[in-house]
Amino acid sequence: MATFSINLKDGSVEQPKPVIVGIDLGTTNSLVAYMKDGRSTCVKGKDGKSTLVPSIVHFAQNEEIIVGDAAKTKLETDPANTIYSVKRLMGKSFKDVREQQDFFGYQILDDDTDSLVKIRVKTRFYTPVELSALILKELKNRIENELGTAVSKAVITVPAYFNDNQRQATRDAGKLAGLDVLRIVNEPTAAALAYGLGNEEGRTETIAVYDLGGGTFDISILRIENGIFEVLSTNGDTFLGGDDFDRVIVDFWLKQLSAPHSSDGFMSSDEWIKNKEFGQQIRLLAEAAKKALSSVEVFEGELNGRKVSLTRATFEGLIEPFVRRTLDCCKNALRDAKLDVGQIDKVVMVGGSTRVPLVKKSVSGFFQKTVFDSLDPDEVVALGAAIQADILAGNQKDLLLLDVTPLSLGIETVGGLMDVIIPRNSKIPTKAGRQYTTSVDGQKNLKISVYQGERDLVEHNRKLGEFILKGIPPMPAGLPKIDIQFILNADGILFVRARELRSNLEQHIEIRPTYGISEEEMALMLLDSIQNAQTDMQSRSLLEARNEANNLLLSGDKFLQQHNEILSESEKATTQALLKALREATKGEDKDAIHRAIEELNEYTAPLAHRALDATIRQAMRGKKV
Ligand code: ADP
Ligand code: MG
Repeated sequence: MATFSINLKDGSVEQPKPVIVGIDLGTTNSLVAYMKDGRSTCVKGKDGKSTLVPSIVHFAQNEEIIVGDAAKTKLETDPANTIYSVKRLMGKSFKDVREQQDFFGYQILDDDTDSLVKIRVKTRFYTPVELSALILKELKNRIENELGTAVSKAVITVPAYFNDNQRQATRDAGKLAGLDVLRIVNEPTAAALAYGLGNEEGRTETIAVYDLGGGTFDISILRIENGIFEVLSTNGDTFLGGDDFDRVIVDFWLKQLSAPHSSDGFMSSDEWIKNKEFGQQIRLLAEAAKKALSSVEVFEGELNGRKVSLTRATFEGLIEPFVRRTLDCCKNALRDAKLDVGQIDKVVMVGGSTRVPLVKKSVSGFFQKTVFDSLDPDEVVALGAAIQADILAGNQKDLLLLDVTPLSLGIETVGGLMDVIIPRNSKIPTKAGRQYTTSVDGQKNLKISVYQGERDLVEHNRKLGEFILKGIPPMPAGLPKIDIQFILNADGILFVRARELRSNLEQHIEIRPTYGISEEEMALMLLDSIQNAQTDMQSRSLLEARNEANNLLLSGDKFLQQHNEILSESEKATTQALLKALREATKGEDKDAIHRAIEELNEYTAPLAHRALDATIRQAMRGKKV
């Protein structure tokens, strides 16, 4: 099925030095980029013309599979065998796309509505993963041609809203194309990376990434803190983009050409549309006009020997409703992120359609900011992916990127238990947090001790540091809300922050967990945790049994008080005795003894509890005279 086309110029099978490439697998266009002499660079095709590979696959009559520009020319002439926009189908079932079926000019299989979508081409069926793999293979060939060596590792970008299925499908496509996908990166994150945003240590920035492509619009609001990108919200329209701009130009020209005063309106617009070759021509000319109008004021062209023209002002009038719709999405994204326009620090422009001056002007006006647009908007996502790839390759001097945390990170909680906040093997950078409270009335200070390791009791783990959150306003135990955040950035630096949410009191420390610990020591700690798993589990279950017993003791005492009148003297005495036995058991080290005492108490008091319940119900009924 999948042929692995490794393209080696010199015929050798050795890899001199591994390159990790960045790939933007787009709905309309795809690109591949890599670090060339310290600069992220997109790779052009053999003809040296464009860095874009149209995301289109054509299955030719002679069984040949054509990808990219050559396939694009078949869109109109052989739509059934020319697959575009396959990204829209990634990880989707037929049910998911049933409503959009008309959009696709090719056949989507609908035999089993719950299974994943398949596409029929001639007598064969293809999955979106296989088709995407064909595009990825084309990109792989392109970079291998450029470098003259095999390439097998990549970072691939996906929209921020992609779910796990869609991300997994993208990974699978990579694998099928012979690429080891080291990381899936969000497109807006890649775009921000390309502009070098988020590199300033200790700065928190909020960024809007406005991505208007060929057929889709995405707006993402990101927060970057200590090199960690967090998606605050996403919004957009999966059927809004540059294709709509082309379409309104086509409609405009068709009206112009078929107008009664037109010199030779010999064809109705319906006939024009049916004429595939003409349809193709007018669409291509419309796209050319649109692109030209991004830099000139008037476009003049020829269609079948007749003159057509379009001014920028007319064009802007035609597309204004689409632009307005994108701004509505921006509003919604801000609302979901609970931010207002003034809180956005930077705006990044992505996607070919952001070259349109009206788009740029409108977005800049909406956010009241100059937008970031100095990089090629078609390339910016791929450029960022290549930077991410380079970081993963360990080539960025100031960025030592540990891919995963080797040991769990957490804090000490009641009873000396380790509460893991970032588990071992978490991908980094990462961020995690949890809320705690105080255990004593009026508690003013809270000590936060940070540990590393896999054992259940902190005393067996490695202490990384501690700090005290001082001056918590006096409150009853359990009322303060103390939020503890662990932020592990790409350099492997751990930032621990404690914040009392009612008073906004805050304290933090920075630790380098891998500092002063060797690989061997880490291995030993792991080994240690495995060897001690048994005893660790025992100590943990003893602590947990004690907690359960303490809760039961409290409710037992309450029960005796509340139902004094329905219990006989001997029942009271026996319950007292069982409570006492349980209290004794909690003082010992034997968790089984505690469990036995819990059971005995429960067994004896269960019928009493039933009777108490009955009595309560009877009492309630008595009040209800019919
Ligand atoms: P996607 O992310 O969906 O793959 P792209 O970011 O590659 O899409 O954007 C493709 C769109 O950008 C097409 O509709 C194309 O016509 C449009 N486009 C490219 N260059 C220009 C330009 N100079 N002016 C206006 N639109 C442009
Ligand atoms: Mg894109």
